Formats: sequence, C-alpha cells, structure tokens
Amino acid sequence: MKVVDHIKKAKGKTLFSFEILPPLKGQNIQSIFDHIDPLMEFQPPFIDVTYHREEYVYKELSGGLLQKKVVRKRPGTVGICAAIQNKYEVDAVPHILCGGFTKEDTENFLIDLDFLGIDNVLALRGDAVKNETYFSAEKEGHTFAKDLVKQIVGLNKGEYLDEELLNKSKTNFCIGVAGYPEKHMEAPSLDQDVLRLKEKVAAGACYIVTQMFFDNQKYFEFVDKCRTAGITVPIIPGLKPLATKRQLSILPHRFHVDLPDTLTLEVLKCKTKDQVRQVGVEWCIQQSRELISAGAPVLHYYSMGKSNNIHKIASELF
Ligand code: FAD
Repeated sequence: MKVVDHIKKAKGKTLFSFEILPPLKGQNIQSIFDHIDPLMEFQPPFIDVTYHREEYVYKELSGGLLQKKVVRKRPGTVGICAAIQNKYEVDAVPHILCGGFTKEDTENFLIDLDFLGIDNVLALRGDAVKNETYFSAEKEGHTFAKDLVKQIVGLNKGEYLDEELLNKSKTNFCIGVAGYPEKHMEAPSLDQDVLRLKEKVAAGACYIVTQMFFDNQKYFEFVDKCRTAGITVPIIPGLKPLATKRQLSILPHRFHVDLPDTLTLEVLKCKTKDQVRQVGVEWCIQQSRELISAGAPVLHYYSMGKSNNIHKIASELF
C-alpha cells in the first residue's frame, strides 16, 4: 500500500515508522529481523531501508602508484526490502539514488522493486562519494532528485527505456522525497531550497520526509514555508534520538543541523553513556509529543542500526 494511503487511512492519527540501514557486508538477514522485531508492536505501516553507494578506496602499489578500488560496504537494499515484506505485514520503502546510477540502472532497479510488489520509493540525489568534494552524477544519470522523480513518474505511465516494455507495462510507485527544515547544505538559502523542493513535488513526489531536527520550531516554520510556497503534500518529520557525546559534533557536521543549547548542556553534564542516551531519549519523547499534538502525519525515526532507544520512545507514545 502507498505511504499516502496509509496516511489517509489513519484519518489524522499520527503513525509510527522508522528507517533502517542495511547491515555491513557479511552479516545475516537475522540481524535485520532482530532490529525490526521489537518495534513491530508499534505497528509501523512502513519501514524505510536506506541505500548506500560505492566508496572509492585507494591502495598504494609498489612505485608509489595508487590503485582505485570500488567497494560497497552496505549493499542489499532491494533484497532486504523483499525479505521485510515477506516476513511482516508492512510496506518496505527502499531509498533510491541518482548517484552511481545511469538511467538504465535506475529503470532496472525499479523493475526489480515492481516485480517484488514494492509500492513506494524515496527518491534522493545522494551525496558525494567519500574522497570526493562534490556530488557528481553518472554520465548517463541524473544530477538532481527532481529528474529521478520524473523518470519514476515516466515508468508509472509506461515510458520505459527498454523498448520491449515501452507502453506495454506500467509501474505504480508512490514517490517520497527529502526536505530540509534547516536547508540542504548546498542550497544558497532556505527559500531557494523550498523552491527546489516544490519542483520535486511538481515533478510527481507524493510526500516529503525531513532531515532530522532537534528543535521543533524549525519543522513548524519549514512546514509553514512549504505551505506558503504551495506545497500541499504530507511532510513527515524525521527524528533521531541523540545517543552519544560525540554526536554533539558529528550530527551538525554530517547532517548540517543545529543542536539546541539546552540539549547540548544536558548532554555535557552527563557522567555515563547511559545518562547521555537517557537525555537523548527524553528529548526525543518531548519533541514527539509536541509533533503529535500538532498533527504530524507520521513520526519517522532514524534508528541508525539500534532499536533500543526507538523502542523506549515509541513505548511512551504509540
Ligand atoms: P536534491 O533534491 O537533488 O537537492 C540537492 C541540492 O541541489 C539542494 O541544495 C537543492 O536545493 C539543489 N537543487 C535542486 N534542484 C536544483 C536545480 N535545478 N538547480 C540547482 N540546484 C538545485 N543519502 C544516501 O546516500 N542514502 C540514503 O538512503 C539517504 N536517505 C535519506 C533520507 C532522508 C529523509 C534525507 C533527508 C536524506 C537522505 N540521504 C540519503 C541524503 C541525501 O542523499 C543528501 O542529503 C543529498 O545531498 C541531497 O539529496 P536530495 O534528494 O535532497 O537532493
């Protein structure tokens, strides 16, 4: 079922959902189930599975020459989605990127998802690969998420690159896209970024999931800005409980988000790792309560491979 239909069916009740990462290579699908199992009591209608593109590793050969090697540390998004849908009554939402994909790769990826009965995708541009400063698209790929959305919408109409399928088959994907309450790091301003977001929706995106934020005011102002700009689709807040002291610097650096002083000071006061986790959980519960009262359609938690914190939070709310 489509994410937007789950939201409609809930008739204003806030839903619970979360995002998982494919495990590092060499692990078993059971590690994913062990992560999901405890969270199923909160009846998520959908679970996102992130996509991780290749990394370039440079190995020094004799004579000082560098050999470039392509590695993928967390493959398996499609297989994990299939396994989730097979085991649980839940829709798996794979993330799909522009980066690393030609248009043909994208089409084949989507054909696989369609074959597996997957109804939703989150369409993203992706970041620059490690060791590169700027994002660069494949020669025959997409530069912006908006163009990826257009290709998926095209497939929904039967516009395949594969002439055998052209106008003979159709997919029916519900497409989500990313939004940034504190602006995307490369956007010149939040207003410009919202206009770009509007283009993704105009291209055919049906819902938005936000980057994590730790100050609800940022989300409320972002939603207001989007609505003023004419974006009417659901805007799902993304939440992450802060879990370690190191994240005080990692999260702003990696995700370009601000951490409120009150939260930072509470974390700095903690003497143990457990105390830090507890502060993160309590902060996230407060954020969640306020978002539910404000009528957020879904609360989408970034679990980052750990379900304990999310379980504690959801137990208080769902
Ligand atoms: P876009 O919407 O293409 O925007 C990228 C930048 O380009 C923005 O600054 C935008 O303002 C600008 N822009 C857009 N259109 C134009 C234009 N026509 N001209 C000039 N500028 C333009 N990454 C992963 O690798 N795997 C994942 O699974 C993953 N999941 C994510 C889930 C969520 C909910 C979020 C919020 C992010 C996720 N990301 C993931 C990270 C994402 O790939 C990066 O944030 C990436 O840098 C931007 O992706 P986007 O889809 O928002 O890009």
